[in-house]
Amino acid sequence: MSDELEIVRTVADLRQLLASWRKEGLSIGLVPTMGALHDGHFSLVEQSVQTNARTVTSLFVNPKQFGPSEDLDVYPRDEVADAAALAARGVDLLFAPAVEEMYSDGAVTAVAVPGIGDLLEGGFRPGFFTGVATVVAKLLIQSLPDRAYFGEKDYQQLCVIKRLTKDLDLPVDIVSCPIVREPDGLALSSRNAYLSAEDRQAAPALHQALIGAGYALANGAQVTSSIAAATAELLNVGFTKVDYIAVCDPTSLEQLEIVAGKARLLAAAWLGKTRLIDNIAIDV
Ligand code: AMP
Repeated sequence: MSDELEIVRTVADLRQLLASWRKEGLSIGLVPTMGALHDGHFSLVEQSVQTNARTVTSLFVNPKQFGPSEDLDVYPRDEVADAAALAARGVDLLFAPAVEEMYSDGAVTAVAVPGIGDLLEGGFRPGFFTGVATVVAKLLIQSLPDRAYFGEKDYQQLCVIKRLTKDLDLPVDIVSCPIVREPDGLALSSRNAYLSAEDRQAAPALHQALIGAGYALANGAQVTSSIAAATAELLNVGFTKVDYIAVCDPTSLEQLEIVAGKARLLAAAWLGKTRLIDNIAIDV
C-alpha cells in the first residue's frame, strides 16, 4: 500500500505507473467497477489490498454492456465520493478513463464468449456479455495485474471472465469474492438505489425464494416444482416479472434437471422498473 490514491485517466499513464511497480517487483491487484461503490465493492478492494503490494481500482461505466433501453444515462455516478472511499481503504490507483479513451475512434474489436455468455443473462440482455468481456479483456491487458477480483453477485459474469482469461491465455488469477448482503438478505447493488420504499421492502424475497428452493431441492423436491414455487412466491410479494430462476452446473451454467452434488441457483426478477439478480450455492 502506498500513501495516497493517485487518479489516472489515460491508458498510457496507467501503463507507465504499473510498469514502474512491476519493475520494483510489487504485486498488483485489479478491482474493476462501474462506481457508485458500496460494501460489496469494498470487500473486493479489501481482499486485494490484503494480498497485493499495490491495488488498482477501475471506474468505468461501460456503454458497451448496456442495451438501448437500459439505464446507461441514469446509472448512479459519484467519482469524488468513490475516490475518497477507495483512498480510505488503501487503494493506490484509480483508473477512471473517459469513454473516448477506452474506445478510441473506430474501435470495433469485440470479445465474444459464446455458449456460457448466451445463457441466462445473455438471453435476456443480448450483447451484455460481449460488452463485459471486451472491457474486462481490455482492462486486464492494459494493467497486466497478478490478480483481478470479481464478485459472486454477478456469478455468470465471473464464469464468463474465467472462461475468457483461460481462452486468451491472460496471465492473471481471477479471484472470486462472496456476495455481501444487507442484514435482511438483499444483495448489495448500485442499482438498489432505484428501489422505491415499497419495493425495497419486497426485495429480500429474491434471496429468500432462492434459499427456499435450495431447501426444497435438498429435501428431494423436483427442480421444476421448486422453481415454480419460488416464482409464485416472488409474484406474490409484488415482483412484477421473473426473467428466470434456474438450477445450473456451477462451472458451465448448463441447466440441470436433476441435482446431485454442487449446483448454483440463479435468478433475475423485476420489481417495477428495477431488475434484480441474485444467486446461491447449493450442495444436494
Ligand atoms: P459493478 O460496479 O456492479 O460492475 O461491480 C463491480 C464488481 O463488484 C463486480 O465484480 C461485482 O460482482 C462486484 N459486486 C457488486 N456487488 C457485490 C456484492 N453485493 N457482493 C460482492 N461483490 C459485489
